[in-house]
Amino acid sequence: MTPHDLAARSRAAIWHPCTQMARLDAVPPLPIARGEGPWLFDTEGRRYFDANSSWWVNLFGHADAGLAEAIATQARTLPHVMLAGCTHEPAVELAERLSARTGGALGHAFYGSDGASATEIALKMSAHHWRNLGQPEKCEFIALAGGYHGETLGALSVTDVAIFRDAYAPLLRATHLAPALHESGALAAIEAKLVELQGRCAAVIVEPLIQGASGMRMHGPEVLRELRALCTRQGAHLIADEIAVGCGRTGSFFAWEQVRALGAEWPDFILLSKGITGGTLPLSLVLTTDAVFEAFLSDDVARGFLHSHSYTGNAIACAAANEVLRRMETLLPTLSGQAAALREAFAPLLHDDARIENGRQTGMVLAFDVKPGVAGERFAERFHLAARQHELLIRPIGRTVYLMPPYVIDASIARWLVEVVARTLNDVCSV
Ligand SMILES: *Cc1c(COP(=O)(O)O)cnc(C)c1O
Repeated sequence: MTPHDLAARSRAAIWHPCTQMARLDAVPPLPIARGEGPWLFDTEGRRYFDANSSWWVNLFGHADAGLAEAIATQARTLPHVMLAGCTHEPAVELAERLSARTGGALGHAFYGSDGASATEIALKMSAHHWRNLGQPEKCEFIALAGGYHGETLGALSVTDVAIFRDAYAPLLRATHLAPALHESGALAAIEAKLVELQGRCAAVIVEPLIQGASGMRMHGPEVLRELRALCTRQGAHLIADEIAVGCGRTGSFFAWEQVRALGAEWPDFILLSKGITGGTLPLSLVLTTDAVFEAFLSDDVARGFLHSHSYTGNAIACAAANEVLRRMETLLPTLSGQAAALREAFAPLLHDDARIENGRQTGMVLAFDVKPGVAGERFAERFHLAARQHELLIRPIGRTVYLMPPYVIDASIARWLVEVVARTLNDVCSV
């Protein structure tokens, strides 16, 4: 089987996500045979550095031996059992470990299968909590401009990325949109919305520190501290979607730890997925507080939280996540050094290259925008294709080029990365 054959079979048999299938001849999918560390190898043995961690899920590199072992051991012992009426050690251990990371503040874990389902669960749980407290009118949500929370209908309702949303807008629930947190005046606008809703807002949902899918738009922890206080004052939940930014991506295990360091309380919900299994298996969690949990305790089944997926709390995925958490204990302290290596290597490019603007970084996410005049048509596609020729697998978002690599960065890898990014820019930019 040649790589070309695999791409052709793929085109015929697979409807690829986030892909205009009519462009598949121009952008044939890379036939990947195996991975090792940050590298992916195609069926002809060519290698590619996975600069976007395979859609932000990979933490330690590919085919990690420790994760493989944890998965194999669990698969031989207990791959899966339903989590209604049964429980198992990997799921309990994972919930306990995450609770401990919040000092018990978010001590109740509900399991989902992917990021979008975590969003669905949090929205339902928030509104149902208010209903159980006798406030059924509290069932509306405030989301932020440029926010992304997944693409199932409920999650898409609180997502504001036009390309994902527009075609499906008629299917969605109305949501109140407020300015993104990096905009000045965002807090005042959110407060005005909360006041206008007169107690009908169940929750405000945000991506802490980095709005990922709309182009790595960053804000500091201070505005999140103010938002936490504002939601408390106005009696609305705060949902922190850490699906992308959790698991060390911003330098701390939870992005919210940086808000805590400023004296803020925890959010009412934290959503985790993506990195939680280190890029091996789908799994998500919704972490919440005693106050939310207790509002569901009753003799009445209908007052309990009703949401179920067949693979909820899958034991193999939980075992992988437990291994991720064990490994993160030694890895977390190295992340500031890894982030510094990226920062130092990219500083000359970000400061001096006249073709780019808005260089920015939060922890292990580094991004810049190519200026509109230089980017040209189909910039993301052309950049992606050109980068392949330099052993780099990267998918810009519009004109935004970003690196969100596995946590394997040292000074020499960082220098190599900036060199290939610069060469790719030379290939695709018109000046
Ligand atoms: C990826 C992502 C989701 C959705 O997760 P899926 O597993 O792709 O459904 C939700 N929120 C954020 C912030 C994300 O980055």
